[in-house]
Amino acid sequence: MPNSKSEPNYDTIVVGGGSAGVGAALAAAKNGARTLLIDAGPTVGGELLSGMTIDGAINSRGEPIIGGVLDDLIQELDKLGGYVGAFCDWRLINYHCIDPVFMQFAILNLLRDAGVEILLYTVAEEVNVKDGLVTGVTVRNKSGHKLLTSKTFVDCSGDGDLSVSAGADSNIGGENNELQPVSLMFRLMGVETDDLLSFVQANPQNVAVGESDAIRGGRTDLELVDKLVEQGQPTVFFKSDGPLLNDAIDRGEMYPTALIMIQPTSTARKEVCINSTRIDKIDALDTHSLSAGVGKLFDQVMQCASFLKNNVPGFENAYLSAIAPRVGIRETRRIVGEYELTEEDVFTGRKSPDGIAKGCHHIDIHQGGRGQVRIPIANGGSFDIPFGCLLPKKLRNVLVAGRCLSADRAAHGASRLMGNCLAMGQAAGTATALFVQNDLNDMRDLEVIDLRSILKSQGAILDGTH
Ligand SMILES: Cc1cc2nc3c(=O)[nH]c(=O)nc-3n(C[C@H](O)[C@H](O)[C@H](O)COP(=O)(O)OP(=O)(O)OC[C@H]3O[C@@H](n4cnc5c(N)ncnc54)[C@H](O)[C@@H]3O)c2cc1C
Repeated sequence: MPNSKSEPNYDTIVVGGGSAGVGAALAAAKNGARTLLIDAGPTVGGELLSGMTIDGAINSRGEPIIGGVLDDLIQELDKLGGYVGAFCDWRLINYHCIDPVFMQFAILNLLRDAGVEILLYTVAEEVNVKDGLVTGVTVRNKSGHKLLTSKTFVDCSGDGDLSVSAGADSNIGGENNELQPVSLMFRLMGVETDDLLSFVQANPQNVAVGESDAIRGGRTDLELVDKLVEQGQPTVFFKSDGPLLNDAIDRGEMYPTALIMIQPTSTARKEVCINSTRIDKIDALDTHSLSAGVGKLFDQVMQCASFLKNNVPGFENAYLSAIAPRVGIRETRRIVGEYELTEEDVFTGRKSPDGIAKGCHHIDIHQGGRGQVRIPIANGGSFDIPFGCLLPKKLRNVLVAGRCLSADRAAHGASRLMGNCLAMGQAAGTATALFVQNDLNDMRDLEVIDLRSILKSQGAILDGTH
């Protein structure tokens, strides 16, 4: 709370409590900033609560490239019994499988322990801005409108709401304004892994494997399917050009989709998360358009669950156990920052002296129907995300982190993963604490070398040839 009339309410206000916002709030508070985390929804966690895996944190060679806040989160989750483990899809990536039920507890525990204040059910609307310096944000909730002031702001809204309201420029989608489809994750309980894996071994032509040379490692498809089966986990991606899914789509039994991705969320519940549903041509910044798609996504959930039960051994007695708290949005605004991460940076695995986070996910652009662009990173390594990607042009005390980073469309497709969002959030939150400690009035005056050194001392992985 303010010390005097002119003292802002907070040092750091973080707008949006998804993976980026959680990372930012934890890091800001850990580094001494009086921190408020605002979210429009009924809780924090964003897509971390959908049941999907945390990608972008372990490269295709199996080396961790994200630490810090991610490690803290996984440690807390493991303590609670909600960490399933790190596995390989034997196609392109390694990932952390998590139980979203326990993830909710883990996030709230960490935020409470760090002393982060949380304001839920609250939408950040207009900002007060002068000469690029934002002094306050007007929020709306059941109590009405209120102006909250702060020395710094981190925009983790996914859509760049705060930055755009402050005057930042943004890009949206592709050359023809095309956007990645929206999807609704769901979970099925009572899945028999052994039966599923036996089916996969007997029908390898249905499964996507070996799309990255680093993961293929000179193996044949059959050898890769053997590795997948040996892993003993329901980590199976049925591909749309395999007969199982292709024929079902042709028959009209399944909607057109690129994949049915199956990943474990709880061994005890024999539960998996399914990433498959999709509708394209939805602009998630147009709430009417997004709302209109929800019913169709729920229909697809039922269709996919029935398809699996009727056609895939292991699913005979499975039942629907959860639907993600909200529709998953892959792509809206990308804020124009001091540096734009490029497709070439990503696929060549470029390193930068200003790197404050890393990524390792392939360029991953879902399209309508059966389409999806997937381009692996060179040698299964990683690329750096420079500080300038978090720094919106024209603004002095605002950083962005997460899905709305400054990147071209392809680079965005590789850096929007939750591992990278947590790491960008950690960097942005730490930067705001440094800004306040050093009494700066422009983020551009911040010494990135100091930021990198604090991040590394707090577990971030920034160096190395990964
Ligand atoms: C279908 C789908 C599948 C995916 N699969 C994977 C996967 O398997 N693994 C992986 O790692 N990543 C995956 N991703 C990508 C990843 O989930 C997201 O890119 C990432 O979670 C974005 O994190 P974020 O913190 O930037 O935004 P979000 O998690 O979207 O969080 C944004 C938060 O901001 C809040 N908010 C927004 N506007 C406001 C406002 N004006 N005021 C207050 N609050 C606001 C929202 O309520 C939300 O909680 C997937 C994404 C989708 C959509």
